[in-house]
This record gives sequence, structure tokens and C-alpha cells, in this order.
Amino acid sequence: MSSDLLKSCGLRLTPSRKAVLDVLRNHSEPMTAEKIHTLACQSSRMGLSTTYRVLAQLTEHGLVLKNDGLDGFCYYQLHTHTHRHTLHCSVCGAVVFMDECPLETLESQLAAQTGYIITSHSLSFTGICPACQKKCPPDISHTCK
Ligand SMILES: [Zn+2]
Ligand SMILES: [Zn+2]
Repeated sequence: MSSDLLKSCGLRLTPSRKAVLDVLRNHSEPMTAEKIHTLACQSSRMGLSTTYRVLAQLTEHGLVLKNDGLDGFCYYQLHTHTHRHTLHCSVCGAVVFMDECPLETLESQLAAQTGYIITSHSLSFTGICPACQKKCPPDISHTCK
């Protein structure tokens, strides 16, 4: 439940927090704040700045993972054991979502070593997608834009 998630972090349940969390719970793909805002407004009317503020609070409390996309947007998703990381094409900006998080073992080791409660992490890969590789000669593919 969204309300339990909020309570576990000591956050009060507000309509805007609930609306944003519900959107994130219903979508496993990372989404931009604008997209989340559009969907959240279907259940709770709020300004875009409220959506940004709620996302920042949820990220700070470790409920939400934020990853910077190369396209200039930030992608948000629930920080669960099934959250996804991204692979971006540096040429055309295409995004591939990874189905697994390779950091979970590392995260628990780090928590055990340091005594920290780790609330979030970010990881993204950059590369050149197969379509762009075809368009660029392989020897200059790293600099081809
Ligand atoms: Zn590409
Ligand atoms: Zn992860």
C-alpha cells in the first residue's frame, strides 16, 4: 500500500504523494516527472512544481530511484527489488530498460561493511544502439554524433 510505504518513511499521506506513488506503483518503466505528473493529475489535481517536490521528497527518503537520462530528463521509478536501470544510446537517445539490478549484492555488502541503511543508488549505461552503429563507420563510432 502507498500509505504503508509513506508511513514507513515517516511521511504523511497527502493526496499528491499518494497520487505520485500510485502512478509509480502501476508502471514498472522509469518515467520522466512530466509523464508522472500527467498520470498523477488524473487522480489528484496538482501543479507540476508539486509533482517535482513530491518526487524529490520520495527520492530523498529512498522510496523512489532517480536516474539522469542523457536526453536531459530524469527518470523516476519506485525503489523496489524489481526496479530497472537504463542503457542509453548516446547518438539517438534511445533507452533500453534493464530487467535486473546488478547492484543488490553489492548494496547489501556495503550496508553490512559500513552500517549504513542504503536508501538509493543510481546506475546507467551509455552506448551506441545497433541502428546507429550501422549508420556510423565502426572506427569513429565513439565520436560519431
Ligand atoms: Zn541510437
Ligand atoms: Zn539497482
